[in-house]
Amino acid sequence: MRGYVPGEQPQDRRYIKLNTNENPYPPSPRVIEGVRAAATEDLRLYPDPLATVLRNRAAAVYGLHRENILVGNGSDELLSLILRTCVGPNDRVVFPHPTYSLYDTLVTIQEGQPVHVPYPADFSLPPGLAEAEGRVTFVCHPNSPSGTPVPIAAIETLAARVSGLLVVDEAYVDFADASALELVRHCDNVIVLRTFSKSFSLAGMRIGLAFAAAPLIDELMKVKDSYNVSRLSIVAATAALEDEAWMQANVARIRRTRERLMDGLRSRGFGVLQSHANFVLARHPQRSLAGIYEMLKARGILVRYFATPELFDALRITVGTDAEIDALLSALQEIPLP
Ligand code: PMP
Repeated sequence: MRGYVPGEQPQDRRYIKLNTNENPYPPSPRVIEGVRAAATEDLRLYPDPLATVLRNRAAAVYGLHRENILVGNGSDELLSLILRTCVGPNDRVVFPHPTYSLYDTLVTIQEGQPVHVPYPADFSLPPGLAEAEGRVTFVCHPNSPSGTPVPIAAIETLAARVSGLLVVDEAYVDFADASALELVRHCDNVIVLRTFSKSFSLAGMRIGLAFAAAPLIDELMKVKDSYNVSRLSIVAATAALEDEAWMQANVARIRRTRERLMDGLRSRGFGVLQSHANFVLARHPQRSLAGIYEMLKARGILVRYFATPELFDALRITVGTDAEIDALLSALQEIPLP
């Protein structure tokens, strides 16, 4: 199999890093204080396998019960855990495409069969997802790399029609206007995934949450590693949820900068879909963008370049600080489009 290739995490120099959708702002000071205070000799002890403190806090914040929540070592671990629990050789796993390419890798590891249903040009939810009869169906909401949402009502209708589980990957939803989280209250086959890596500025701590009906969470609990989330990660995520206002303020700044980035790209001739995430997908109607990625990198600016058949010549640009986006836009002004 081909392994998943994550975005570059260069260690050689400091780049303006707009390639892996990290948050340009720091996590809440409460997180840093909490982690410092927890860095004691107690680190010799294993963490709580059930992450009870964090699940209680998340239940209060999201208006659900602790029994509806599972904590993962990033939402990537939760994706993997869902597939380990539900998918065996030749089982079909269905998702609109193009999307987060890790889904393909994780399904292949299970010897399952990834089934791609192409998105239309506007990235609305394609017909044919339920008919493809997946054991698991994924919808990335908002989608990566397009940044596009779909109506929650469409996700709800899909949940009622799929033959197996519907997993809604909401890694970027705090930057959007609407979430599918409510669906877990009355749809017993829906799992909603969230991460602390983006809106909460905690990619380095590796924490994700899965929300679902309690019987589903029970099954996933049986499969997960006992100590999948570290003591420090549990402390960090709990503190982050105690200071949601910090996250919301950063999200508001990023949403404002996102609009500037989209305007700047459009005025430079790029085609840009309205993004509901913390990144923007830029394409060019007439010209090939090959080379732009390299030229930006030479100037110390890293973005993600996609050259797949479905996404020919696209740049996915993370929304950084205003200063970082100014640097990107002025570099694009100077670089002649090939
Ligand atoms: N889902 C999507 C759509 C993503 O883009 C990412 C980040 N690469 C993840 C899940 C995983 O995030 P994490 O493991 O950091 O929680």
